[in-house]
Amino acid sequence: MLLAGIQTAVSLIYPAQCLGCGGLVGSDFGLCGTCWSGMRFISGTVCEGCGSPLPGEGDGFRLECDSCLRHPRPWSRGRSALLYEGQGRKLVLALKHGDRTEIAMTAAVWLERAAQPLLQDNPVICPVPLHWTRLLKRKYNQSALLAEALAERAGLEHCPDLLRRIRQTPALEGKTRDQRYQLLGSAICAHPGRLDRIRGRSVLIVDDVMTSGATLSACTDACLRAGAAEVRVAVLARVTQT
Ligand SMILES: [Zn+2]
Ligand SMILES: [Zn+2]
Repeated sequence: MLLAGIQTAVSLIYPAQCLGCGGLVGSDFGLCGTCWSGMRFISGTVCEGCGSPLPGEGDGFRLECDSCLRHPRPWSRGRSALLYEGQGRKLVLALKHGDRTEIAMTAAVWLERAAQPLLQDNPVICPVPLHWTRLLKRKYNQSALLAEALAERAGLEHCPDLLRRIRQTPALEGKTRDQRYQLLGSAICAHPGRLDRIRGRSVLIVDDVMTSGATLSACTDACLRAGAAEVRVAVLARVTQT
């Protein structure tokens, strides 16, 4: 109640602004019509591996996109909330580099909707980790913000340091798929003090963007090595042209 009162007071002083362009909107953490129409939310039939949209109707069997068929994923199921294009791409970049941490709250609503089938059987939710030197520079891990907000919405356990990046890797932008897999190999491991939260459990790994899937594969391998029963992945945005 108190929080609601404060929020009302705040919204009187600072009217709600569009997350995308800063224009006035009806409610906090919303998007104006123009920004909304620039979002490419994923719905309907999707790839069971990465959540990419697929044409046609599902027939009850597992469907996968060309990319997942060509490169089988080590995780069991994956979902993506939106395509990494247009306004969605701008929001992802603002969350990652622009100190726009408030985007994570709204993004978690979209992520929860897309990841609904992956939230069964009480999985423990964890983010893709940043190396501590990069965390120091960036001040926050955008994937951890998403993972925390998703866990809170879904009422699930969040373990922000379940995985650790033990080796610093260069930025993956502009690298080929093979280079990405090579760079990521053995860069990520389970936190030795968190093994009891992984063993025999389902783990849901959260990231902001999936491109080749190299980072999520390294995270999945780390969870499986640590004894996870099953690993699923949920990302805010999927880059589909890889
Ligand atoms: Zn807008
Ligand atoms: Zn796929």
